[in-house]
Amino acid sequence: MKGLAMLKIGEIGWIEKDRPACGPRDAIVKPLALAPCTSDVHTVWEGAIGDRHNLILGHEALGIVDEVGSEVKDFKPGDRVIVPAITPDWETEAAQRGFPSQTGGPLGGWKFSNFKDGVFGDCFHVNLADYNLAHLPEGMSLEAGVMLPDMLSTGFMGAENANIQIGSTVAVLGIGPVGLCGVAGARLRGAGRIFAVGTRPASVRVAKEYGATDIISYKDGNTADQILDRTGGAGVDAVIIAGGGPDIMMDAINVAKPGSVISNINYFGSGLGDQDVIPLPRVGWGFGMADKNIMTGLCPGGRVRMERLAEVVMHGRMDPALMATHVFKGFDKLEEALLLMKDKPKDLIKPVVIVEQ
Ligand code: NAD
Ligand code: ZN
Repeated sequence: MKGLAMLKIGEIGWIEKDRPACGPRDAIVKPLALAPCTSDVHTVWEGAIGDRHNLILGHEALGIVDEVGSEVKDFKPGDRVIVPAITPDWETEAAQRGFPSQTGGPLGGWKFSNFKDGVFGDCFHVNLADYNLAHLPEGMSLEAGVMLPDMLSTGFMGAENANIQIGSTVAVLGIGPVGLCGVAGARLRGAGRIFAVGTRPASVRVAKEYGATDIISYKDGNTADQILDRTGGAGVDAVIIAGGGPDIMMDAINVAKPGSVISNINYFGSGLGDQDVIPLPRVGWGFGMADKNIMTGLCPGGRVRMERLAEVVMHGRMDPALMATHVFKGFDKLEEALLLMKDKPKDLIKPVVIVEQ
């Protein structure tokens, strides 16, 4: 089989590998639609999770089942499926405690393109197919569907973790595709005012479409000051962080009210050392006592999550396809799509590669 891989830090290339073996409860899937993630960019070009050699990249896919193990009940070859970015080991202790994305250690539910070959292959392996695949609903476009495995799941988690009440004021820092789903998630959770912080014109347009009431450019001055100014000094009930470097925690804490939640979904990818730190503002955080609470999370995975996200889309609550600004046709276009995600031109939100078998 062929795949687009991380050869080493800073280098990608096409490689050949043996077809993966299918365990009794697993599936082998061929891609229908694929999307590169900013996390692939952190992983390859910032070496953010350490070195990886000849590891096939990618964790956002729709696919068609090619083979199933003897114990798989609900899927058969030919089924069109949503493949979650996160494919936990559902029997583990962490899953039973309610944290399936962290099975086998921190971020352990994230297997594709982390410690096993990802979905940017002409076929790939999915563990526990009955738990980690969902049927692609009839009528869902591939451009919309491929946003579910990671973008919707992560962005919505940002809003879910933020304890948004009906009428809450929310700030979303960073409006790439993940932050845009944070905006959409905040609206679905009943937020009143939603500040979207970002500059890319394409993102600003979609942010308004997804429910942003105020657009703030972090290039026009300090973000926290701008939002404090517009809220009469009050700040916000919830902050969702979906972009920026470690310093963005300063804005997040400074703009948050006492009693708020700062919900981080950002992958702090810059820096390679285990001594790197993420700063918090001592005074803005009430010397550590201001009831400004930090939540973190890795994208929720698994079948039920995908089925619920599909309900959101199929019933018209939000249209993920608005984020698919660059649509490529053909598996061979993957490299171009990934490099586009790295370069982030102004008109880009998310590149999508339609493979269609
Ligand atoms: P993106 O790069 O498209 O969007 C982030 C945006 O934030 C960029 O446009 C950037 O210019 C902007 N930004 C930079 N500094 C800023 C600042 N100070 N204030 C506001 N905005 C600022 O990225 P994305 O694809 O939307 O992903 C967002 C982050 O989420 C990435 O770090 C990605 O790796 C991470 N991620 C995490 C998970 C998870 O499971 N938690 C899943 C997927 C992606
Ligand atoms: Zn991702």
